[in-house]
Amino acid sequence: MARAVYLAMKNHASALIEAPTGIGKTAAALFGALKALGKGHVTALFYLTARTTGCRAAEDALDRMRAGGLAVRSVTITAKEKICPLEKADCMGCQYAVGYYDRRREALKEAMSVQKLDAAAIAELAMKHELCPFELTLDASETADVVICDYNYAFDPKVRLRRYFDTKSQAGLLVDEAHNLSDRARDMLSAELSGARLAQLRRQAARFEGKDSPMVKLMGELLDALDAREAEQESLSELPEAIVSAVRRFAEVADELEPVEPEIVEFVYDAQWFARVAKQFDPEAYRALIVPGEKYIDVRLWCCDPSKYLKKALSRVGGAALFSATLAPMEHYAGILGADGEADEQLRLDSPFPRENLLALRMPVAVGMKDRERTLNAVAQIIRAMAGARPGNYLACFPSYAYMTQAFRHYRLLWPYDDVICQEAQMSERARQAFIERFAPAPQKSLVAFVVLGGVFAEGVDLPDDRLSGAAIVSTGIPQPSFERELLREQLDDADDGGYDAAYTYPGLRRVLQAAGRVIRTETDRGVVLLIDMRYRQEKYRALMPPHWDVQDVGKMSELNERLRRFWAQAKGEER
Ligand code: SF4
Repeated sequence: MARAVYLAMKNHASALIEAPTGIGKTAAALFGALKALGKGHVTALFYLTARTTGCRAAEDALDRMRAGGLAVRSVTITAKEKICPLEKADCMGCQYAVGYYDRRREALKEAMSVQKLDAAAIAELAMKHELCPFELTLDASETADVVICDYNYAFDPKVRLRRYFDTKSQAGLLVDEAHNLSDRARDMLSAELSGARLAQLRRQAARFEGKDSPMVKLMGELLDALDAREAEQESLSELPEAIVSAVRRFAEVADELEPVEPEIVEFVYDAQWFARVAKQFDPEAYRALIVPGEKYIDVRLWCCDPSKYLKKALSRVGGAALFSATLAPMEHYAGILGADGEADEQLRLDSPFPRENLLALRMPVAVGMKDRERTLNAVAQIIRAMAGARPGNYLACFPSYAYMTQAFRHYRLLWPYDDVICQEAQMSERARQAFIERFAPAPQKSLVAFVVLGGVFAEGVDLPDDRLSGAAIVSTGIPQPSFERELLREQLDDADDGGYDAAYTYPGLRRVLQAAGRVIRTETDRGVVLLIDMRYRQEKYRALMPPHWDVQDVGKMSELNERLRRFWAQAKGEER
């Protein structure tokens, strides 16, 4: 993997790499890229992540390399809201922003002698010099060897680092958990104007500024333009011109009125962004969506296909490696991530861990929408069999909050004295931490955590060794149909029903494999993965399973119990 990353940087190409969890992707990517940096093939590296946990993994890998003698300056960019020392990041007139340019020189000089500028080091330096830590991070990133940050800073036209990503540069990109990039890019490149939000802001502005104020009138004009459009759900391949002209006018004039209410300021920014997206509206990559609400319509300029944009962004940098544990099928991901150029490479690495450490079983239970109520008991029995076979921590993963909650309640009703926890829709950072801490090493009694597929606990958490002994995955994870997803399907559809797979099957499977990937994290990890759904027996799903999995069918509970018993007995024997 390190070699593939190095060559991508050397050849100014992209490498798409699929490698199982726990084999050291972060270190391999950094190692290859640092070699390329050392040889001058790239001038700076950007380790791009979709989640904060990914940033920490990169920081830790660099720490280990530094301990081995590597001299490299890294900066981690932390989101403004998280690093701001004030209760609310309200920047207008902020004491740390006023006079920033007069005071930053000393701080940046000091920063040059610090090897690792993570959030804590930046915060300390910023407070010492009374500077905005976020601005200081951005400034310090300009001279760093490695910048660790969210995808946004490289790909989002609104916030990307202009020095490196507005024009051609020799930056090397390492895109961690690259399976997320297409969806994230779609969000970054789309724009939305909500009639309901505009109406609410107009009422707010009328209260503060008076009914006849220029801002209220201007908002009224825009609302009239929205109102004039028939409230019918539509997907258009051309712009709704009357609305777009009204937004353009609003964006220009509202800016001149210099609003101060933060929510109105934000709305004006959004309108400006809407006007910008409208300017570059490309019918091959965009759809204009009219979505009727209760009283007003919403208009979305929806980027249905960000691949062209991503391809261009990748071609503007010195080289890129995009890696993840779940990029199957690779041709599909190469296409949607814009990494399918002639010079681009694909690499699929097998697991180096002993195959017998994972027991993967397919359980044919009908768990589609109409069957869920009826099979709730069967699903609960399977989960309990898994947790009862050996004391340990287990995940029970469901495709939606509603289904998860229903199953959790049912399970608790059946076995009120079992140790069970359940994910909640809005959890604070502290609540998430407390949830993770429940996964104690080598527990005496089993714990079952009910979580949502694609959520924070089913992806992106690291529970090595005996902190996780198994995962029951209920359903194939396919996302709920929505207006946008159906359009995606239609757009990608071809004679082979490729559209359905691209819009539903692959994103679903990705969530399943991400959750399953929590189970085996090291070469000594052992664990169980139960795939609970009739559809796993279909040839399509069989073909998409990781090559290092030996998935076996189990039809009866007695057989399941026996397989689990044998698996853990064998593990125990080997441990002795
Ligand atoms: S300028 Fe910086 S320190 Fe001040 S409010 Fe904004 S983010 Fe916070």
